[in-house]
Amino acid sequence: MIASRPARPDPASVLEDRGYRLTGPRRSVIRLLDRKEEGFSAEDICEELPGVGRATVYRTIRLLLDAGVLCKLALPDGAPKYSLARVEHHHHTFCVTCGNVGEFRDTTIERLLRTIGADIAGEIVGHRMEFYIVCRACLEAPER
Ligand SMILES: [Zn+2]
Ligand SMILES: [Zn+2]
Ligand SMILES: [Zn+2]
Repeated sequence: MIASRPARPDPASVLEDRGYRLTGPRRSVIRLLDRKEEGFSAEDICEELPGVGRATVYRTIRLLLDAGVLCKLALPDGAPKYSLARVEHHHHTFCVTCGNVGEFRDTTIERLLRTIGADIAGEIVGHRMEFYIVCRACLEAPER
C-alpha cells in the first residue's frame, strides 16, 4: 500500500532552519536539484553548473543529505546517485535501463523490519532498501 504524499519539505528553508547560509552557489545547486526528476550523480551537477565550484557542489550535497532532504542511492556499479526526497521515510526503485528513480512507502515492509528488529541484538538506527527494476516506459519501448 502506498501512503499518501505529504507536502515535500523545501530544501532551501530546511537548510536555513539548520542555520546554514544560503549563498548564491548553494541556491543554484538547490534550484537545479529541484528540477531533476531522475537520479543524478555529483558529477552531473558539476557539469550542468560550470559556474559553481566542485567543492561547493559536493558540500551542498553533503548538507542536504545530512538534513534528510536528499536521498543517496547505492548503485550496483558506478558513482552513487542522488535525488530530492519527495516523501518522508521511503525506499527507492531504480531503473537499470534509463536511470529513472522512483520512491515508494510500504507499511508492510516497515512492520516486517520492526519484527526482525526485535530479534537483533542491538538497536537498529536505520535501514536501506533499493529495488533495481526495468521501468514500465523501458519495458514498453519498441527496442526491447
Ligand atoms: Zn528518495
Ligand atoms: Zn527505465
Ligand atoms: Zn523503510
